[in-house]
Amino acid sequence: MRIVIVGAGVAGCVIARGLSRLPGMDIHCLERVEPGDHAEAGTGLNIGPNAVKALRIQDPELAGIIDDAAFEWTNWRISLTDGTVLFDLPLDDVASENGWRLRWSELYRVLRESAEGLITYGCRIADMGATPEGAGKTWIRWSDSEGDHELTDVDLLIAVDGRFSQTRQTFAGGVNSRQIGVAIFRTLVPDTSDGLITDYQQWFNGPNRLLAYRVPEDHIYIAGTFPIPLDMETPDEMKTAEALRAAYTPVSGYASGQARWLIDTVCAPESELHWARIQESEARYRETGANVLYLGDSSNGMVPTLGQGATQAIEGACAALGEIERLAGDGNFDAGDWLAAIEAVRADRTRFVMEFSLEASDTLLAGSDPVEGTRKKRNPAFQEKLKRLYNDIGTIGAVHSREESAVG
Ligand SMILES: Cc1cc2nc3c(=O)[nH]c(=O)nc-3n(C[C@H](O)[C@H](O)[C@H](O)COP(=O)(O)OP(=O)(O)OC[C@H]3O[C@@H](n4cnc5c(N)ncnc54)[C@H](O)[C@@H]3O)c2cc1C
Repeated sequence: MRIVIVGAGVAGCVIARGLSRLPGMDIHCLERVEPGDHAEAGTGLNIGPNAVKALRIQDPELAGIIDDAAFEWTNWRISLTDGTVLFDLPLDDVASENGWRLRWSELYRVLRESAEGLITYGCRIADMGATPEGAGKTWIRWSDSEGDHELTDVDLLIAVDGRFSQTRQTFAGGVNSRQIGVAIFRTLVPDTSDGLITDYQQWFNGPNRLLAYRVPEDHIYIAGTFPIPLDMETPDEMKTAEALRAAYTPVSGYASGQARWLIDTVCAPESELHWARIQESEARYRETGANVLYLGDSSNGMVPTLGQGATQAIEGACAALGEIERLAGDGNFDAGDWLAAIEAVRADRTRFVMEFSLEASDTLLAGSDPVEGTRKKRNPAFQEKLKRLYNDIGTIGAVHSREESAVG
């Protein structure tokens, strides 16, 4: 079968590597950036226990490689910037695995190395489309340093080209995004905190929130959010050091040692903050007239509140691989059947994760009370949803049968 994978990011590498292990697969993974170019991945990632669980079952070797590049994410603490602790959750209370925290560029490096030989770098995709007479088949044209190329009779086109997916733009006319009225900045800085910042923590001052954790080697990832008017760009005056200091400093003027270090770091003249606005996009799993599969951000851009973007890219790629392995194992090599099966196992799960991520964003919105909002996160109902998020990775074909045989 001829399979083209557009993008060698998180989901692209996992799926390329997994598919290459099946017999009879002709895999072409086309990546826009050059080898070693991680310029778009300059921050840290916390990857949820659900991705770790899915990958350990689907590709334990790859999970082990990420273990070596990451620190374990074992605890989630929420405090006020004056130091009052509101919530302190060991992840093993709600999850069968810990998560990972690491540099995004490191994740790309190990994933791309693990899919070595399958990826063509420096690709500029010129066009792609459905083959008119081709029973779901597609074609794609691109250029790279060696010239222009075309592949026709593509049995399956997998769009893993991120939240601004050219593939989704081409086949579905783009992505409808929805803002939630929250600005976000992110930065990765050398660890000068002298042990103040270690595992995953959040600090609130009203609805304004800082988040930070340590990643290998000796860096701290910091993200900050605050409400902005809906559907407006973040005003420049809210991005200044004075405005940020005011946003995160308690009215009393007293900030805890951790909060002081974070505020001083993001407000330092040399700090480089990358700005965005929190948004989610409408989910889409596949095309029906052509065998196109969407995974990761091209399928379901979600609000980052529960750290589920890359997490779902991994979980979704494992789920897709599980279904493909299950059907191919039964001798079914009809890509249309594969896509229907993948959508069937992903749609409800993705909807739950997107809705829960949005629900958990309540404390970031204008006028919210972090004390009351965080108190709700200690309730059994929220904790049950966390257990579902972190453990229920869906009825994943091969993953499930392996789990059953492991139990048996
Ligand atoms: C600053 C920041 C912090 C984040 N923090 C977290 C976090 O803590 N936890 C978490 O789970 N998620 C986090 N996310 C989200 C996470 O990074 C994404 O959800 C995840 O990378 C999506 O994986 P993906 O495989 O769908 O796409 P990506 O990883 O974005 O990969 C897409 C790939 O496609 C390539 N590409 C794009 N267009 C083309 C094209 N036309 N042709 C060929 N190749 C193309 C890109 O170069 C890239 O390699 C964060 C995102 C940002 C921006």
